[in-house]
Amino acid sequence: MTAPVLPQRARVVIVGGGIIGCSVAYHLAHMGWKDVVLLERDRLTSGTTWHAAGLMVTFGSTSETSTEMRKYTRDLYARLEAETGLSTGFKPVGFIELACEKDRLEEYRRVSAFNRFCGVDVHEISPSQVRELFPPARTDDVLAGFYVKEDGKANPVDVTMALAKGARMQGAKIIENVPVTGVITERGAVKGVKTAYGDIEAEYVVNCAGMWARQLGAKNGVNIPAQSAEHYYLITEKIPGMSASFPVLEDPGSYGYFREEVGGLMVGLFEAICAPWKVGGVPEDFSFGEIPPDWDRMGPYVEKAMKRIPVSMDVGVRKFFCGPESFTPDLRPVVGQAPEIKNYFVAAGLNSIGILTGGGLGRVMAHWIINGRPDVDVTGMNIDRLHTYQSNPEYRRTRTVESLGMVYKCHYPTHSMQTARDAKRSPVHDRLAAQRAYFKDVSGWEGPDWYAPEGVEPRVDQLSFGRMNWFPYWQAEHEATRNGVILMDMSFMSKFRVEGRDAGRLLNHISANNVDGPAGLITYTQWLNEGGTLEADLTVTKLDDERFWVVATDTAHRHVETWMKRHFEDGHAFVADVTGGYAQLNIQGPRSRELMQTLTTEDLSNEAFPFRTAREIDIGFARVLCVRITYLGELGYELYIPAEQSVHVYDRIVTAGAAFGLRHAGLKALASLRMEKGYRDYGHDIDNTDNALETGLGFAVDLKKPKGFIGRDAVVRQKAAGPMTRRLVQILIKDPEPMLFHAEVVRRNGKPVGYIRAASYGFTLGGAVGLCMVEAGEPVDAAYLEKATWEVDIAGKLYPAVASLKPLYDPDMKRIKS
Ligand SMILES: Cc1cc2nc3c(=O)[nH]c(=O)nc-3n(C[C@H](O)[C@H](O)[C@H](O)COP(=O)(O)OP(=O)(O)OC[C@H]3O[C@@H](n4cnc5c(N)ncnc54)[C@H](O)[C@@H]3O)c2cc1C
Repeated sequence: MTAPVLPQRARVVIVGGGIIGCSVAYHLAHMGWKDVVLLERDRLTSGTTWHAAGLMVTFGSTSETSTEMRKYTRDLYARLEAETGLSTGFKPVGFIELACEKDRLEEYRRVSAFNRFCGVDVHEISPSQVRELFPPARTDDVLAGFYVKEDGKANPVDVTMALAKGARMQGAKIIENVPVTGVITERGAVKGVKTAYGDIEAEYVVNCAGMWARQLGAKNGVNIPAQSAEHYYLITEKIPGMSASFPVLEDPGSYGYFREEVGGLMVGLFEAICAPWKVGGVPEDFSFGEIPPDWDRMGPYVEKAMKRIPVSMDVGVRKFFCGPESFTPDLRPVVGQAPEIKNYFVAAGLNSIGILTGGGLGRVMAHWIINGRPDVDVTGMNIDRLHTYQSNPEYRRTRTVESLGMVYKCHYPTHSMQTARDAKRSPVHDRLAAQRAYFKDVSGWEGPDWYAPEGVEPRVDQLSFGRMNWFPYWQAEHEATRNGVILMDMSFMSKFRVEGRDAGRLLNHISANNVDGPAGLITYTQWLNEGGTLEADLTVTKLDDERFWVVATDTAHRHVETWMKRHFEDGHAFVADVTGGYAQLNIQGPRSRELMQTLTTEDLSNEAFPFRTAREIDIGFARVLCVRITYLGELGYELYIPAEQSVHVYDRIVTAGAAFGLRHAGLKALASLRMEKGYRDYGHDIDNTDNALETGLGFAVDLKKPKGFIGRDAVVRQKAAGPMTRRLVQILIKDPEPMLFHAEVVRRNGKPVGYIRAASYGFTLGGAVGLCMVEAGEPVDAAYLEKATWEVDIAGKLYPAVASLKPLYDPDMKRIKS
């Protein structure tokens, strides 16, 4: 074989010629960046893509981004042949999801309302309609089917070849048999790639190396905690009457999906407990590879799945296939610019939906690379949500056993991953456990979710979409915060010390609010990009002229850190991550001042220690940063305590707290309290596509700051554009019974205008409460809200609601400032 001839330079080098790499190349070239080279180690599709089952499904996600990517992908594959002359094998034979249990029915009804809102034409159908559409299916136990006529199947190899041809037609170069051996960097930015046939200089690299992405990333210290796992399907001999026009059928309760394949049946499986593959590293020469199937392990799942199509048990199995696919710790892909290296992009860890989202993901990536920021909400899939400890072999081996199984589990909104737990503990963890905390996984931390009363074991009896066994304990914690005083451990919050002569100037440059005022003051601020949309939502506390304290939510940890480091390059400012060095204990509630005053000599009166004060105070033998601020909507204090003194301080608080009826409160209470007050949570109810004005955060934007800030011009333009037609609105359900979680569709005068981005239960307000981004097409103001009937669709039932721009709880902040 003659050695391939490589160009010396390219604007972008894409590593990997699976469906994702080819889609990124296709979209970059279509968007005008022709100087693109894709390098494939072997031949196109030789990794995972060649053996995918080719299901094309738009139904099932409660993420707007994912649903939009699925829809775009389906449309793209339907039109690629006309553009390239190559068939994609896309056949819109339809798709049916079966619900055979009560809770799944509830889940799919919730999902289908949301999917319809996003433009997916999904219909609930009866068991007899399921049988009409897919006659071999057993339907005696089916409660309902969810049918999308336009979905179906495609041929993954043909799709990839069509994308590659489409990319070439636009000028991209696709070169096979060239493994990339490393990425060349200089001063933390991409400079090119290395291959056995020479280097290519490049401004951007996109790691689309599928199950090799982690290994390739690790060579440059880029954290991609994806892990390959066994993934199965079988193909039966021919079955009389099996038709290629039958829809794809999915029955998660039986672990299986089904579609016609050359006159027989393909039975694909997502087993409940799965098997990671090659934790130590995927062999470099694994091409068009198969894994020997583990029949013993898979036998019970196969049996259960085949019972859904009884005739499949009467014919032989022609092929039992096992191939590897990459899975991630939270079943979301790894996408975006690596925090470690500028212009090093990643699109990997597709969790078995790389074909059905590949087209859309390629579009998102190309837009992101070309414009410097994405045009969809990426907070849930951004590579920087992931932490380095998650790449540890033991973590990957442990967590992957659970993550593939999650695909076909009923997706209860209050579920927390159960494997790879106890990775990070708050310094007062054991004390909280002794108080009967029920812990959940919070970015690897054991976060106390709620506390069981004395004599009750902290456990979840049964997950559900309704009220669970811990509902009354949660209510008691919520009420104690509103009426008394609580202690809440939030040590998982990301904490940074920023120091240096230019620290104030640089922090002020990236903050929309003025964070460089007097020392001893905490400031709530957003960080915006040049387009004026949100990059972060956090607090900055000025300790003195050269020392600042930056606190953000756990999921924003690496994004916030990277944003600072990338904007502080030219100044004298240094960022130290001190998250593990300090516990954060919050003492909140109307009696918090009384309690705190018994613990310190500092004068905590309203005059001496007003709202937003931040000062080091004494508690026992400790010095503690005490900040008068709240995320719960009450008088309260956040205490940052050196880890080694936290147990000491905790004990002092709890001992003194007995006289005030101090209660422990968990993260469920945090959610319900903040939601009543309408406090925002980045990555949940606000994201990178929103601006500060439409999210109601204009009060925290200081347009008068002398030296401006990043995004200021965009905010000025947004203001000048006139009344806002898109606004974040608080929604309260009038009926106290139903629960809101996420993705429930909100209607105004019967017309869908948005969906609940995040929600909780408002014990003080008397019903479920959430935040909805209303997209109205007309000004969203008080009149728009008041002169209308509001309803929320919860699993197909409409519930009357109240909509408000102002927080429904304590809109005048009287409780906080008193
Ligand atoms: C059994 C099975 C069934 C599936 N069914 C479906 C389905 O029905 N629908 C669906 O949407 N998804 C399905 N999937 C998932 C889907 O196949 C994957 O999500 C998708 O193929 C991933 O594409 P990719 O481009 O990320 O990875 P890959 O296809 O693995 O591509 C990565 C490429 O990178 C190359 N590469 C690696 N390292 C280097 C290097 N150093 N230099 C150059 N090149 C390199 C590899 O050779 C490979 O070609 C299925 C997966 C399995 C295993």
